[in-house]
Amino acid sequence: MTVQQAAVGGEELEVWIDQDLCTGDGICAQYAPEVFELDIDGLAYVKGPEEELLQARGAATPVPLPLLTDVVDSARECPGECIHVRRLSDGVEVYGPDAE
Ligand code: SF4
Repeated sequence: MTVQQAAVGGEELEVWIDQDLCTGDGICAQYAPEVFELDIDGLAYVKGPEEELLQARGAATPVPLPLLTDVVDSARECPGECIHVRRLSDGVEVYGPDAE
């Protein structure tokens, strides 16, 4: 299945989680279960294109366009302030604690 990726100003976006700050409350997995999931270690991770959990810390995954709002809401509501959405092209954060 081809998934249209989210873009800001025509730029593709990806999302990653800083597990060092994750509180494990699961808000992200409630907002966007297609993108986020809690692992057995109690921390949230992003999922890959086949919905597999990307268990490497800080692993990034593309943001599908239909899920952009859910992903952005997750980043805004994340109590750990540890969900980062960045442009693929230059790595600049567009949503999240390091966004300008
Ligand atoms: S919302 Fe943030 S702190 Fe909560 S589980 Fe998701 S990544 Fe961790």
